[in-house]
Amino acid sequence: MVDQFDVLKVLRNSFDNGTTRNLKFRRKQLSNLLRMVEENMTDVVEALEADSKKIHAEAVAEIEVFKNDALHMLHNLDRLAKPRSVESNLVNILSKAELFPEPYGVVLVIGAWNYPLVLALTPLLGAIAAGNCAVIKPSELAPAVAQLIADLLPQYLDKSCYTVFLGGPSESHQLLQNRFDYIFYTGSTRVGAIVAQTAAKHFTPVTLEMGGKSPCFVDSSVDINIAAARILWGKAVNAGQACIAPDYLLCTQEIEKKFIEAFKKVQKEQYGPNMKSSKDYCRIINKNHFNRLLSLLEGQEVVHGGNHDVDQLYMDLTICANVNPDSPLMRDEIFGPILPIVRVRDAFEAVSFINSKEKPLALYVFSNKKSVVDLFIERTSSGGVCVNDTMMHFSCDTLPFGGVGYSGLGAYHGDLTFHTFSHPKPVLKQPMNMCHEALMNLRYAPYNDMKIKMVTLLMKKRRTFFSKQFFLYLMFTLFGCLITYVIMEYGKSIESAFLSLFK
Ligand code: NAD
Repeated sequence: MVDQFDVLKVLRNSFDNGTTRNLKFRRKQLSNLLRMVEENMTDVVEALEADSKKIHAEAVAEIEVFKNDALHMLHNLDRLAKPRSVESNLVNILSKAELFPEPYGVVLVIGAWNYPLVLALTPLLGAIAAGNCAVIKPSELAPAVAQLIADLLPQYLDKSCYTVFLGGPSESHQLLQNRFDYIFYTGSTRVGAIVAQTAAKHFTPVTLEMGGKSPCFVDSSVDINIAAARILWGKAVNAGQACIAPDYLLCTQEIEKKFIEAFKKVQKEQYGPNMKSSKDYCRIINKNHFNRLLSLLEGQEVVHGGNHDVDQLYMDLTICANVNPDSPLMRDEIFGPILPIVRVRDAFEAVSFINSKEKPLALYVFSNKKSVVDLFIERTSSGGVCVNDTMMHFSCDTLPFGGVGYSGLGAYHGDLTFHTFSHPKPVLKQPMNMCHEALMNLRYAPYNDMKIKMVTLLMKKRRTFFSKQFFLYLMFTLFGCLITYVIMEYGKSIESAFLSLFK
């Protein structure tokens, strides 16, 4: 506790003396962080493979995601860190209104284990870029990655501004007793509630990146083989241990039958006849999670997969058909390679079913009918929607990534990773001259009807054509009219005066 307190004091001092506000400093730290991952690629890949039993391709993909996030931040830092001008209304027409991106201060980033590198380091990119000091608390369930981050970070980043604390729930709990200026948390909804409650004591703003049961709907208008391939991919990546993995499938009984056949066929094509021996399919993180998943299968009608090996923490991609909506399998986020199918009569029943549950992180709708797609987009609520695919919306960095309700609060990715870690402070700069003072004079006492009318007029909400540009156009037009009038009225005399100069 004392140790944590002392380290946080150093960070607080660094923030207070303005070290992290310097743009050159931020740029250097960002490129050092990128260099840290690039120069230690082999160690990072090994740690990812050791901890989360990741397959090589997925470990490399995770690193590439981080590298692209870092490059985005480096390429856009100047633009993002600049105060942004905004339009002002008529009463402030001579003023300058802008949003100044102010760093929060000392921020805390708590990571989850399933993508232990990006979930700890991508928020750190935002924290650094926006000018904060930061504490990183990686997940204890990915100990090799956590230790590697703790060892490498002080070698590449300024120790007085950025630090790593290791540990599990009790260390994390202890850490939260300190006052932070922003908390960025990724993990389960259960712990998210604890983080939010603790943060509320100091009105600390939070981003909560959580999970939930992300539903998937398939209708008869799509190619069932393509739908099966895309859903299978979403469930097989990291063995379903992804926050946006499709959690369960909603479809009619007719589609259910066709889907199971297509799924079996596609799985064989991609992973061969024996999934267990495939080098492209990973394992369950630990025995606790393995046993939790196994218990969910009790009493279910397993129509595909179902094999498992506790010693190797291996579990087949498993489909349970005609699942009772009230069964434990349908209660909490599965976070594993099990796909329950719940039968519905049509899209409307699917929408009602989704709306009877907490808001999910992602929603997947497979349909070529616009009316069906629109129904899901307009009549359900979720962190994000991906039409005719799974998980790919995550890869589009112009789309915010985050949940709503029980699946999260706030979002990040792309520019938003910067904005999440900065307060857009509104600043109004008033000129100090007689012209402006003449306008501002209207607000001073003594008041009269004329002043009140003028102020009311200037303050009225207007359409956008009463913007600064409109005002400038108006001035140009009036000036043009004035010149034309002068030429027409006094053209002859101006001309003769001009000619007389050369006589
Ligand atoms: P978790 O909630 O068990 O742990 C998350 C973090 O919280 C860890 O660093 C852990 O040490 C810490 N923690 C645990 N108990 C705590 C407590 N009592 N007080 C303070 N901190 C505590 O989650 P997990 O098992 O690591 O991750 C899986 C969950 O994360 C899933 O629900 C998944 O959907 C979600 N997730 C969400 C996203 C996203 O971006 N939305 C990404 C990955 C995972």
